[in-house]
Amino acid sequence: MTKLPLRPPEEAEVEVGLYVHVAFCQSICHYCDFNTYAGLGALIPRYVDAVAREVAALPTPLPGGPAPPDTPFRIGSIFFGGGTPSLLSPSQVETILASARRWPVDAGAEITLEANPGDLSIDHLRALRATGVNRLSLGVQSFDDRMLRRLCRRHDAATAVRAFEQARAAGFDNLSVDLMFGLPGQSQDHWQDTVDRAVALVPDHLSLYNLTIEPGTPFGRWAELGKLTVPDDDAAADMYQAAIDRLAAAGYRHYEISNWAREGPADYRAQHNLRYWRNQLYFGVGAGAHSSFGGCRYANVRAPREYVRRVEKRESPVDDVEEIERSLEMAETMILGLRLDDGVDVDGFRTRFGCEPDDVFSSQLAELTNVGLIVVERRAIRLTLRGRFLGNEVFCRFLARPDAA
Ligand code: SF4
Repeated sequence: MTKLPLRPPEEAEVEVGLYVHVAFCQSICHYCDFNTYAGLGALIPRYVDAVAREVAALPTPLPGGPAPPDTPFRIGSIFFGGGTPSLLSPSQVETILASARRWPVDAGAEITLEANPGDLSIDHLRALRATGVNRLSLGVQSFDDRMLRRLCRRHDAATAVRAFEQARAAGFDNLSVDLMFGLPGQSQDHWQDTVDRAVALVPDHLSLYNLTIEPGTPFGRWAELGKLTVPDDDAAADMYQAAIDRLAAAGYRHYEISNWAREGPADYRAQHNLRYWRNQLYFGVGAGAHSSFGGCRYANVRAPREYVRRVEKRESPVDDVEEIERSLEMAETMILGLRLDDGVDVDGFRTRFGCEPDDVFSSQLAELTNVGLIVVERRAIRLTLRGRFLGNEVFCRFLARPDAA
């Protein structure tokens, strides 16, 4: 469905996040269904130029329609995600950042780049830090070499440790580590060893994801053929609980269902991702990237060659625009906010929508409170610990028709 934006944001100047999608990988991991492609490395220079051009023209123009809302904005965070952004050279990262800096960028804005440990060297890391990237998210996934091979990752555990230590030496004082659990053949002991080895590095942030088997991936096909077994839901829940306990003991704040931040002199929560969980505004550039701005959600064309072709021809890369109905915006604000330990701020909800969550979702809130999945306290609505294990059960309730809107 392609619709044109209907209403501009109300703020005089809005703060936005900028997401840069780098849709390239050297090889495709067996579980991955992200919008990323192997074997297209030769396209990267043109892709970088196209992204820089799209950034310079923000908000991204719409196909054949009027200009999007002409609202002043400033950039509060930048996130290079993928794909494998560490396939870009530091000078290519700099090209995109220079384009972003044509807009006001907050002093001290978090600038994150997702990195594959196998791509990094101390010289590369120093040059990257010099571009202004101030946070790395390292896709470690496991410290078990056998498991890394099974996932088709390109690095081993020793490489991940070396990359982490070199990143510190290069001046990165905000480092995140991604790990996965519920992997084929993974035991509790293997998982706990991986968490222990991550904690030993003292990362500032950890993201822990439960493997999902996606159709169309090698893991999906092998699972269909009965050739792949993963820990069942109870075993995966035990792994999650073990991580919760271990990371709490190590002084990490479990601030979002899948994310932990070190308690320390700075706020190590992922500032860019907090914007998503607070259902705030962001621009996404690059192939397949999404934006949320001006009451609409925009999606760019997914294929990198077509994305580059369109931008080079000065055509819009946007393939789809959807108006976000107020009822959906309220539901998403609940669902995303509940992922955070801060929960949904009732007063913030009232400021944004002119009503309280209980005016709209009274039956859902009553039911979820009665079964112990949420609590309402100090003007915030939060998941209980049990609710964190059953998040999807909670979230789907809010997508049912609201009581009033
Ligand atoms: S490196 Fe990341 S984006 Fe690339 S294939 Fe593996 S999981 Fe997917």
